[in-house]
Amino acid sequence: MSFTAAIIGRPNVGKSTLFNRLVGSKIALVDDTPGVTRDRRPGEARIGDLHFTIIDTAGLEEADPASLEGRMRAQTEAAIAEADVSLFLIDARVGVTPVDEHFADLLRRVGKPVVLVANKAEGKIGEDGVMEAYSLGFGEPVAISAEHGQGMADLFNALLPFERLDEDKDIEEEGDEEVVIGPDGEEIFPELDTTKPIRVAIVGRPNAGKSTLINTMLGEERLLTGPEAGITRDSISVDWTWRDRGFKLFDTAGMRKKARVEQKLEKLSVGDALRSIRFAEVVVLMLDATMPFEKQDLQIADLVAREGRALVIAINKWDLIEDRQKAMAELREMAERLLPQVRGVPLVTLSGLTGSGIDKLMGEILRVYALWNRRVPTAALNRWLSGVLEHHPPPAVSGRRIKLRYMTQPKARPPTFVAFCSRPEALPEAYTRYLINGLREAFDLDAVPLRLMLRKGE
Ligand code: GDP
Ligand code: GDP
Repeated sequence: MSFTAAIIGRPNVGKSTLFNRLVGSKIALVDDTPGVTRDRRPGEARIGDLHFTIIDTAGLEEADPASLEGRMRAQTEAAIAEADVSLFLIDARVGVTPVDEHFADLLRRVGKPVVLVANKAEGKIGEDGVMEAYSLGFGEPVAISAEHGQGMADLFNALLPFERLDEDKDIEEEGDEEVVIGPDGEEIFPELDTTKPIRVAIVGRPNAGKSTLINTMLGEERLLTGPEAGITRDSISVDWTWRDRGFKLFDTAGMRKKARVEQKLEKLSVGDALRSIRFAEVVVLMLDATMPFEKQDLQIADLVAREGRALVIAINKWDLIEDRQKAMAELREMAERLLPQVRGVPLVTLSGLTGSGIDKLMGEILRVYALWNRRVPTAALNRWLSGVLEHHPPPAVSGRRIKLRYMTQPKARPPTFVAFCSRPEALPEAYTRYLINGLREAFDLDAVPLRLMLRKGE
């Protein structure tokens, strides 16, 4: 079975160009198909060995301008409805425009899968636009040049999960990097690329001290915003270097809006939080030590876990706490009780105001980032599995044993494991949890979200 993708975006971002590139010579096939409007042409697309149907929504700009918006909307909605996934195009040279935001809202409302594509990204001019595209909240944009055929491998990777033809195959191939088999048959894992900046989002309720911390880190009044200051920064991220390692620090919408004090948000909306979480590889959830683990804090932590990002909890305003030992014990207890879904998450105490604890925070960020990127070799995984099976095999369900055969880790960021099982649907959830906890302990994956998928296999 194949899937259908819709190309969505405002006029002139390159939808037709991408359509033509993906469909190639078969383009003429469609226009005169009865019942198919010219505005929504389906075509048979191909990238590598991935075949799918593509629906283009281009051609609307020739329509009567008076009714353009309504028609564009109707056509777009129809295309999204037909498709399994939308390729949402923006023009990387222009950046994110209000009309793009409009399309983003529409896509979000529909709630179906979206692959964000920053087109015209060839050369340097597009780089800022690609970064800016993150602000749309659809995760990492795929940078391509439809005209020059660049970025097609990344587009292929982004679309691969939608090919449901052979589920076992696509999970195997979903990994970010390939494992190379060495001369002695050993698996060679790619080294962490330490030249790339680590994307860190600092999220938390208003007044937790996020801006203060970032200001202290940067050593300048770059974010802080008195009522009168017109401090709108043009960028949503700031670059920072700590011990020769590059970081991109992302703020949250709540922080940016701070200029207008009278409008200071009462609370951080879930949408804002989600946006920054998706930007990030590591999320720092900042709590106020004097009122930790409020409902909103817990919601944010839950989002981070669901999005599969690495998490560090920063307990800020530690300078205000007198009995620190007692406070720490309480915090640990609360974290364990209230946040079982992020078991083992590091808690770091600090004061953004004085700067104490920042080194500790950065150390933890680096540590969880490395764990989040961790790959466990298949041989080690299966040695571990056979020990588990010997001492604590899966229970029999309806009188029949469930067999677990084999495990691999096809993907990192976060570490994602697949276990092949004779009856995946029958394996009790408690046993899956037992396996996940075992993996955490055996491979020191304490502080990051883990995924375990079961596949049928004898
Ligand atoms: P549509 O209105 O979204 O269908 O956009 P088109 O496909 O008609 O493209 C609009 C303009 O952008 C045309 O002039 C294309 O040649 C140009 N264009 C499309 N893709 C690229 C690209 O990857 N790089 C550059 N520089 N221009 C592109
Ligand atoms: P944001 O809304 O999360 O960006 O919070 P701000 O950085 O604006 O801080 C809110 C308030 O908490 C301000 O009055 C800060 O001076 C104060 N604050 C921030 N960090 C600390 C800290 O480490 N210690 C103390 N005592 N106050 C802090």
